[in-house]
Amino acid sequence: MVVQVKPSSHHCSKTIEGTQQKVEANILLLGAEHVGKSALTVRFITRRFIGEYGEIESIYSHIDTVDGREISFNIWDSLYPQDSAITESISEKQLQWADGVILVYSICDRSSFEVVRQQVQRIHHASRKMSATAPIIIVGNKRDLQHRRTVSSEEGRLLALSEDCVFFEISAAETYHGVLLVFHGLIDLIKESRALRKGAAGIKSIVRSMSAVFGKKRAE
Ligand code: GDP
Ligand code: MG
Repeated sequence: MVVQVKPSSHHCSKTIEGTQQKVEANILLLGAEHVGKSALTVRFITRRFIGEYGEIESIYSHIDTVDGREISFNIWDSLYPQDSAITESISEKQLQWADGVILVYSICDRSSFEVVRQQVQRIHHASRKMSATAPIIIVGNKRDLQHRRTVSSEEGRLLALSEDCVFFEISAAETYHGVLLVFHGLIDLIKESRALRKGAAGIKSIVRSMSAVFGKKRAE
């Protein structure tokens, strides 16, 4: 699989709203290792669960129809750094690139839940500095392994609630449907966030033109 990094979508894919233009969305998958980030990605793209995916980092391109419109997905299936001393497990480049983020943990790996907790806080902190607003979905994966569960659904839901994220618990191994809900749900959130940004930009430009007019009148 070819690894390609496209330029930030904030410059190249603002076509999600509006008329029948091509809609593009950059989606970043984060989370600890072995939680199923690659399984989710491959399941979404091929509808299949293969089992073993290898340790590769890739950006996949995939076209899918959401609510009757074609969406061009760019999915960055990231690698969690092996060196646990690396606290900066998310780069600024990744956050600038992403229109939306999927944070994955395994319901049978408590440490992976803690990684998601740290990553969501890091994203919010960085987003405030960059004034970015990529929506986040938290995913508890491996729901089929109930007997090995160490993170309750309630904990996942509470984390999402307190961090203003959407929450899903799924099994990439068992069903395609849950994975589909995650990716399509994120597209809805991205659309909302872009519409809000557009609205805010519109208001700013009205305020700017009004101040220009009134400023001019005062000067006359
Ligand atoms: P990544 O390191 O986060 O990309 O994780 P992978 O996608 O490579 O998956 C790690 C391991 O977990 C692999 O052996 C997968 O087969 C397995 N796996 C992924 N999703 C599920 C799931 O929903 N249920 C179960 N039982 N295993 C899963
Ligand atoms: Mg992987």
